[in-house]
Amino acid sequence: MLVSTRNPNLEPVPYEKALIDGMAPDRALYVPTDLTPVTHDELEWLGKQHYANQFAFIQSHLVGNETFSLGQFFEIAEESYGEQNFPYAVDGIVTPVRPVFDWLSVQDLSGGPTAAFKDMALQPVAREMDIVLGRQDRSLTLLGATSGDTGSAAEAAVQASRRLQIFMLSPRIGMSAFQKAQMGVLTGENVSNLSVKGNFDDCQDIVKDIMKDPEFSDLGAVNSINFGRIAAQVTYYFSGYLQMIEQRGMEIGMPIDVSVPSGNFGNALAAHYARRMGLPIRKIIVASNENKILARLVNKGVYQQTGSTPTSSPSMDIDKASNLERLIFELLDNDADRTRSFMEAFESEGRAAFVDHGLKADALKRHGFKGGSSTHAERIKMIGLAYSASGEVVDPHTADAIVVAAKKYSSHVPILVMSTAKPVKFEDTMKEALEAEHIPPREKRFMDIEKRGSGGFVKVPNSVDAVKAIIRASRK
Ligand SMILES: *Cc1c(COP(=O)(O)O)cnc(C)c1O
Repeated sequence: MLVSTRNPNLEPVPYEKALIDGMAPDRALYVPTDLTPVTHDELEWLGKQHYANQFAFIQSHLVGNETFSLGQFFEIAEESYGEQNFPYAVDGIVTPVRPVFDWLSVQDLSGGPTAAFKDMALQPVAREMDIVLGRQDRSLTLLGATSGDTGSAAEAAVQASRRLQIFMLSPRIGMSAFQKAQMGVLTGENVSNLSVKGNFDDCQDIVKDIMKDPEFSDLGAVNSINFGRIAAQVTYYFSGYLQMIEQRGMEIGMPIDVSVPSGNFGNALAAHYARRMGLPIRKIIVASNENKILARLVNKGVYQQTGSTPTSSPSMDIDKASNLERLIFELLDNDADRTRSFMEAFESEGRAAFVDHGLKADALKRHGFKGGSSTHAERIKMIGLAYSASGEVVDPHTADAIVVAAKKYSSHVPILVMSTAKPVKFEDTMKEALEAEHIPPREKRFMDIEKRGSGGFVKVPNSVDAVKAIIRASRK
């Protein structure tokens, strides 16, 4: 069961409600009440299982089996992570771990249909939603805004659904041609791409305005605050840990640290849930780029917006981290009233300090987190270093997490870095870092994608009414 981060009187809700509703009432988030720990023997058993089995086991421990049985979770995972979606998986490992330095390995999370780590969560979540909607004999229209990988990953997941339809807003300028094209090629029966004459904030504002309108209260959201997305990310920490200790001749129970290129804090939070379930993760290193809101929070205990600037790791260019609220709730002893007051302070003043809310400034460090940031120059250099050391070509987001890992490495505990994107999406930055012949050629599925995907967009003005009209027309 799940509870609200802001309302102590809300009855706990089953997983399926959190899945379909996304947010809890009052703009609060759903958080799990109790996580069943995984024992040493179970970890050993998990190490011999394929990913789909690991997923079914972990999901059952994390969200229980009220909504889906162990067998259903297994089927969901087989479809989500099967060969058709993850063609490069070998021996049932869909998130392979590879050593880069003798103290660091990377886990490749972007082997999915859109080559984005967002596939790891969105593939199973769309299937889970489909099953729940089927039971209720209804369908659901999703509305979202994207400036990066979420759009195509959500659309690819919805494409496989019979009961979901999606409208995705994206800015006419500011996205890479590659990312746009990845969405363009997915336009079809239940996938609509709307190209808004404006920037990403305009797109998000339109979505928020429409969601507020009672006429559209039946729309669902695809954003990273859905608990289903977080839950679906926990399994790869188990898989990554088990692969890493086997490759390094370590024993089950020996600790590792993880380093996570962070934006909305979903990925790092999943690491924390894995740790709470007993996975031997010692420190979780939260890596930021030039937009340091998270690193600052971990190191100084101050959560403060300063505006975001565009960088060469664009998926981490954030000015707030929506999932953080879930961890704050835990730091504040699961006290929803205190969490609400912290979040409301942040929302009204753009700043909230731990010390003003009964926490120590280093509360996150005491809770097993480290934080740091990198610059563009450091990422470029690290892409080169990683390549010289191991032949591994990492993208700028992964490079960020390696830079920060290097700054925080301590006590000979090896670090596993979450690799969240494929270099192919950031060709310009890669060319800055590596000789052209060292950059892997595009896979066949991405050849000429800019040409194939350039259609597929309906152009709309920067107007709430224009988007409403399109959604209304689709309901006839
Ligand atoms: C979304 C994304 C991130 C940030 O992940 P969060 O879970 O939001 O912290 C990092 N890297 C890439 C490539 C992403 O797409």
